[in-house]
Amino acid sequence: MQCPNCGTPLGAPTLSESDPPVFRCSGCQGVWVDSNAYLAWVAARPAEGAPDLTPDDTPVSDTQNLKLCPTCRRFLTRYHILPGARFSVERCAHCNGVWFDADEWATAVRHKLHDQVNRLFTQPWQAQIRAAEAQRSLERLYLERFGAEDYARVRDVRAWLDHHPQRATLLAFLQARDPYTL
Ligand SMILES: [Zn+2]
Ligand SMILES: [Zn+2]
Repeated sequence: MQCPNCGTPLGAPTLSESDPPVFRCSGCQGVWVDSNAYLAWVAARPAEGAPDLTPDDTPVSDTQNLKLCPTCRRFLTRYHILPGARFSVERCAHCNGVWFDADEWATAVRHKLHDQVNRLFTQPWQAQIRAAEAQRSLERLYLERFGAEDYARVRDVRAWLDHHPQRATLLAFLQARDPYTL
């Protein structure tokens, strides 16, 4: 089996009680997660802790070359796995193997995703990533359109209105052309 990134032969997977069985490339330090071995490891250990989904836009070097699955020789597909992250990992739709560039794996470990790789491609996880990304791009849009000061102000007003018992009346007051005419 060869590294999908640099072609270096991948040796035996790293095996230890606490670390998932992954193949680390001695050439580029990237990590190949073979799905069968990984799922067996996941099944044999206690339930995983909560992942840390704090948005993380730390720059990460992300190889862009098209890669083939080292097992099935099919093209790998790119996926975002963490809100705000600028990198994508690559996955084989046929055997579910996953490729992480070296920094990507380090980021996954930092966010405690390395022991739940199998969850990262499920519909709920991917929906969560898309929702977080939509939120971030809207935030950028508002900030750009309103400016920092007005954006902060309108958010304060919104927070104040959100739980106000007179919310509807206050909104009507704000929107009326002249709130003092009947
Ligand atoms: Zn490599
Ligand atoms: Zn494959």
